[in-house]
Amino acid sequence: MARGKVVGERRYKTPEESFDARIAKADTGCWLWTGHIGRNGYGVIGIGGRKLAKAHRFAYERFIGPIPDGMQLDHLCRVRHCVNPTHLEPVSNRENVIRGNEARPRALACKRGHLFTPKNTYVNPSSGRRECKACRVAALNRFLEKKA
Ligand SMILES: [Zn+2]
Ligand SMILES: [Zn+2]
Repeated sequence: MARGKVVGERRYKTPEESFDARIAKADTGCWLWTGHIGRNGYGVIGIGGRKLAKAHRFAYERFIGPIPDGMQLDHLCRVRHCVNPTHLEPVSNRENVIRGNEARPRALACKRGHLFTPKNTYVNPSSGRRECKACRVAALNRFLEKKA
C-alpha cells in the first residue's frame, strides 16, 4: 500500500498538537476551526492513519469526556465550526434538530431586535450561551434606577 502524501499540510505528531495549531480564538469565545471544514460545516481533524473525526467531537472528548451513546453535540453558539468544548452540549439527535429549527429566527438578533454582532455579543462563561450586551446594559441601568 503506497503511503499517501499530505500536500500543503504539516504533519503533527499527535492529533492534540494538530488541534492546537488549528484553532483561532474569537472575541465571542468561539474557537474557530482553521483546518479542513466538511460539507456539513463541521471542522474535520485527522486522528492518526487515515482516520478522520469531527473536530468539535474530538475537542469535547479531549477536554470534557466521552460523549454518551446516541448523543450529538449541540453548538450553543450555533457556530458549526466552533470547537470550544464549553460551547457544546450533548443532546439527543431529535432534540438537536428541534433546537436548530427554533434557534434560526433568533440567531441574528436578541428578542428585542439588537443584532448579535461580535461587539454586541456576550458569551456567558458558565453556560456558553450568547447574550445581548445592549440588553445587559439596559437591565443594569433599570436595576440602578430602581435602587436610586
Ligand atoms: Zn462557539
Ligand atoms: Zn438586546
